[in-house]
Amino acid sequence: MRSLNRVEVSRSALIHNFGICRQWADGAAIMPLVKADGYGHGMIDCARVFAEQGAAAFGVAEAIEGVRLRAAGITQPILVLAGVIPQTLPTMVEADLTPVVVDAAIVPELSRLAGLQRREIGVHVKLDAGMGRQGVLPEDFVDLVRTVRGAPHLRLDGVMAHFPCSDEPQSANSAQVLRTFTATTASLAALTGGGCCLHLANSGGLFYVAGARLDMVRPGIALYGYYPDGETGRAAAAPPLLRPAMRFATRIIQVRRVPAGSGLGYSHLFTTSRPSTIAVLPVGYDDGYLRKLSNRAQVLIHGRRVPTVGRISMNLTLVDVTGIDGVQVGDEAVLLGRQGEETITADEIAAWMETISYEVLCLFGKLNDREMI
Ligand code: PLP
Repeated sequence: MRSLNRVEVSRSALIHNFGICRQWADGAAIMPLVKADGYGHGMIDCARVFAEQGAAAFGVAEAIEGVRLRAAGITQPILVLAGVIPQTLPTMVEADLTPVVVDAAIVPELSRLAGLQRREIGVHVKLDAGMGRQGVLPEDFVDLVRTVRGAPHLRLDGVMAHFPCSDEPQSANSAQVLRTFTATTASLAALTGGGCCLHLANSGGLFYVAGARLDMVRPGIALYGYYPDGETGRAAAAPPLLRPAMRFATRIIQVRRVPAGSGLGYSHLFTTSRPSTIAVLPVGYDDGYLRKLSNRAQVLIHGRRVPTVGRISMNLTLVDVTGIDGVQVGDEAVLLGRQGEETITADEIAAWMETISYEVLCLFGKLNDREMI
């Protein structure tokens, strides 16, 4: 039996969004980010769709995700962007994953393990070109490249960095990061004789930073249908727009008529000001529908927006359906996505939750039964 709360992921939206990224990439290879279970959309299903569309590689956070992709038959290079530590190296070598090296300390052990398997392993090096989070500083870059190239069983396949502010169109910071990346990697051809893949652009870099596409781009959020700067990006984008891939719906489990002055739910956070019809939904913070949404979110019922009223609890949410005819138990309620002519986006929910679309998608997608349609 299935849960009443269901996340649907649209394959055609993923394909559409990949196509948009391909147009923007302008010939650069595309490495979809499928970490965090494909931003909640299902890592394996999404990777299969993107592989069919021509993805050149995949990005995951941890080695274990790469192992799962390999077990599912993904053959493209899989870059492990975080968690490249001695304990995870044997798995990475065995599963033929591509470690992103952030400092030289890991190099001897990685090379030793590759040697044991009589293999050469391709690695990418991460430069901190201004993100200030991970990677090697520009002044240490050449040393790291030399260390990797000097390791007998390693091959330097790529160099990457990451933008901290690319969700801000026209960001001076992004232009500076691009300049630092370009200047720091300028010596690569001389050091390596060429053939090293340079990549920097996430979705924001792809859409908003001129000249950042380089050899490969690494979109995440755009592939799932959202702009990194939310509704602003959507408003500014020229058609064809990205299409949100996730829809989250449930079913009404009770319809109650209550008099004016009724306190609703925990702490009576909401009191009715008129005789009201309240629909009860079997969804709550356990499903990622966080308490922050109490008294401030909207859901779609019969194609109309209705407000959440009272405290969102662990598994129950109340919505005010007063004035909508014929609402009954079993009717669909859409928390995210389209119903009739109305749509609730992850950006809207993010504003209600005081977060970003990324977090909304991860929460809903990971905490609920999910299906690709
Ligand atoms: N590249 C790296 C290294 C990342 O960590 C991420 C996401 O966190 C991305 C690319 C994709 O970013 P976005 O989802 O904003 O496109």
